[in-house]
Amino acid sequence: MNDSVKLSLEEVASLATESLTTQGFSLQQATAISKTITSAERDGCSSHGLFRVAFYVNALQNANTDAHALPVIDYPKPAAVRVDARNGFCPLALQIGVPELARVAKQQGIAALAINNAYNIAALWPEVEQLAEEGLVAMAFTCANSFVAPAGGNKPLFGTNPMAFAWPRDGKSPLVFDQASSVCARGEIQLHLRDGKSIPEGWAIDSNGNATTDPKAALDGAQLPFGGYKGSSIALMIELLAGALVGDLFSYESTEQDNAGTGAPFGGELVLAIDPTTFNGGHSHLDHAEQLFERLLSQEGTRLPGDRRHRIRAASTPVEIPQSLHQTLLGYCN
Ligand code: NDP
Repeated sequence: MNDSVKLSLEEVASLATESLTTQGFSLQQATAISKTITSAERDGCSSHGLFRVAFYVNALQNANTDAHALPVIDYPKPAAVRVDARNGFCPLALQIGVPELARVAKQQGIAALAINNAYNIAALWPEVEQLAEEGLVAMAFTCANSFVAPAGGNKPLFGTNPMAFAWPRDGKSPLVFDQASSVCARGEIQLHLRDGKSIPEGWAIDSNGNATTDPKAALDGAQLPFGGYKGSSIALMIELLAGALVGDLFSYESTEQDNAGTGAPFGGELVLAIDPTTFNGGHSHLDHAEQLFERLLSQEGTRLPGDRRHRIRAASTPVEIPQSLHQTLLGYCN
């Protein structure tokens, strides 16, 4: 990378925390967000790394945002955990809710966590991976802002609505996938715009509904769901699970409440956790799953989702960010 700056993970964490606290976040909110950002940089996911600090800071322009919010937890049913983020940010709400979700899922066999009233600017793999590292099967869903046209339509309605899944493995990193229901995450288009690159065909349409490879026209127009109507139905399902089911906003409502046009998604997240012994008389069939993975990997050109991140993590090379991003972050710290 030309004009880049190399940082250790400790430097990434302290730069993120200091940027956020100087810009008005409580230490608790900033530390939780910084942890998420640092995990993304550690795993080579730059679109959810330090690049995201500006999104968190911009979200403060929304009159509803509370950068000092203290989330509140409650238990509406024996297998249900709910955390009200109280207009703060998702990482702190998850930090409180995920360990409780794991505890309840181990006790009940299956459990769900609803996060409400949260700004969610992060990737979903950290929460499902954390649950799988505790031996649980996990899924997570969240809405975003209205960026994606439904199949056949030409105006934004759905969010880029990601879903994540994690499967525990004995003595190995969990299998984890985490994917947007749009062809690509919005951050990817923003990175192309930042770097002056065109986007591939098929990612988006412009505001007139025509195909475009111009990232600016794509951001002003609509992203496309992956796999046509199939991805459109997944996006619709996520609107229902992370919106109506948990009593929170749909993506278009998140956009409508964004009174300062910050683009920060606000609303709910649903996280499910299942003990793999629940349906198997107290035994798990993790070894059976390993046979499937072996068959899959025996085909040349395949890999398991999550492996790329885990390989980058294991290599522990220094994080490299553009000099311009580094300057922006140092500016936040003043
Ligand atoms: P990608 O398309 O980059 O990756 C999706 C998944 O596919 C990853 O788990 C990846 O694993 C896996 N994968 C990629 N290539 C292969 C392969 N050849 N074989 C097997 N598995 C593979 O992600 P997206 O662009 O769809 O989403 C990026 C991120 O954006 C997600 O983390 C998502 O949570 C986040 N997001 C957040 C939103 C929010 O509002 N909070 C909104 C939308 C997206 P691996 O990591 O190992 O490459």
